[in-house]
Amino acid sequence: MRYTSLSSGSEGNALVVEAGPKDQPFRLMIDCGLALSEVESRLAERGLLASDLDLLVVTHEHKDHVAGVPRLARAHNLPVVATRGTLAALGEAFWMGVRRLQVLPGQDLQIDSVRLTPLAVPHDAAEPICVRIQDRSQAMACLTDLGRTTDYLRQALSDLDAIFLEFNHDREMLMTGPYPPSLRERVGGGWGHINNEQAAEFLTQIFQPRLQLVTAAHLSQKNNTPELVEQTLSRLALGRCRWTIASQATGTPWLELEQ
Ligand SMILES: [Zn+2]
Ligand SMILES: [Zn+2]
Repeated sequence: MRYTSLSSGSEGNALVVEAGPKDQPFRLMIDCGLALSEVESRLAERGLLASDLDLLVVTHEHKDHVAGVPRLARAHNLPVVATRGTLAALGEAFWMGVRRLQVLPGQDLQIDSVRLTPLAVPHDAAEPICVRIQDRSQAMACLTDLGRTTDYLRQALSDLDAIFLEFNHDREMLMTGPYPPSLRERVGGGWGHINNEQAAEFLTQIFQPRLQLVTAAHLSQKNNTPELVEQTLSRLALGRCRWTIASQATGTPWLELEQ
């Protein structure tokens, strides 16, 4: 399995995961908050065409996750998977001409040898999910946009090889930064985004020897820095696990899991 972020943060998100057999991988995009031209050029930099994608999963209706969804889906006849709440929140006009597949949180979607599991997350959207992806040999999860971690997530994500995990803000920076109190409360509250310490705590809770790769994602450009995330991650005892940070400007290169 391997993955690459095209961009990560409140200005736009898109993650591509390749799972299944190497000679015939299943290619999944999770969220698309970028313009079509931007998606196509960033995919090209990574050796892919948009027409190589097999499926687009939308985690929730916030603009940074969906802005580019209809154009990408229509241009490449790409089926889109989302929960009923997310589909409804965006409205019929948004989905015009897009092939849609409704999923229930907790219910697996099996496509050849790849199993996708949408999992409910606490976030201020209609019916938001994170996604667990499993093939014959490995499992990873994309977990961004959550206000707090839950026992349900700890249980469902206790056997991962890799995780793409939100490190949204530094608590101190959020509290003393430029946001007005209402936005501060929204972001820092249980239905907003998790901070560096919450992400670190979650990592130590789900850590087991199989976990080999962590990508810190969805960093706030106003209330966090890659240096603070780095400091947080380097304090953790994560065995042989490698970690990287996804950026808004360039995402990440391809990150390959070892067999
Ligand atoms: Zn977001
Ligand atoms: Zn969101």
